[in-house]
Amino acid sequence: MTSAKQLFDLQQLDLMLNECRSRIDSVESHLNDRSHVDNLEFEIACLTESLDELRTNYAEQDIHNQKIQEKLQEEETKLYSGAIKNLRELEAIGKEAEALKEQSQAVDERLMEDMESIEALQSKLLSLEGELGDSEKQRQIDQVELGEELSQLARRVKELESQRKSMASTIQPADLNRYEHLRSAKGGQAIAKVERGLCRGCLMALPTHQLQRVRSGRETVLCSSCGRILFVS
Ligand SMILES: [Zn+2]
Repeated sequence: MTSAKQLFDLQQLDLMLNECRSRIDSVESHLNDRSHVDNLEFEIACLTESLDELRTNYAEQDIHNQKIQEKLQEEETKLYSGAIKNLRELEAIGKEAEALKEQSQAVDERLMEDMESIEALQSKLLSLEGELGDSEKQRQIDQVELGEELSQLARRVKELESQRKSMASTIQPADLNRYEHLRSAKGGQAIAKVERGLCRGCLMALPTHQLQRVRSGRETVLCSSCGRILFVS
């Protein structure tokens, strides 16, 4: 007959195996998760595009302003050269120069605003690039450190699997089957320890006669509340 102790030991191995496998899954999914780096790269690309547009626009506006300034200078030269004597003509030139000055002022203001936007975007871009660099460095460290942990875990799983195989071979097939069924039905815990008269699987107190049967170790006893195989150490 298979003792509850044998099944309990098998369960300990299975729990350790589960733990190793779930750690492997979480490490692998962490290593494969590029979402943070991808998001940063996407943000940087968008920001770079906006910055390029702003700079192009700034350069165009700047050239436009230079042309206005040149024209203004021409008008002012005409105005103060003394070559033009006609009063009306002089007035017209004066008005034109005034209009050009206003235009240039308006463009100057826009240029100043654009420069502020450019500087704000530049500093945001710089900080995102720094964050990306840190993130990539951390990924490289993770690849090495977690890669090492993965190989250790793989070795441990192999070890546990071979221990499990030899342990399972000492258990009667029918008992092993029942154990497997219970294990999948009871969230991985087919065997429950009995401590201070309680089933540790469901925390219910066991009736005295059931407790005695478990203690005798002569038969497999299932908890009457949760259905797990009971085990007294
Ligand atoms: Zn129970």
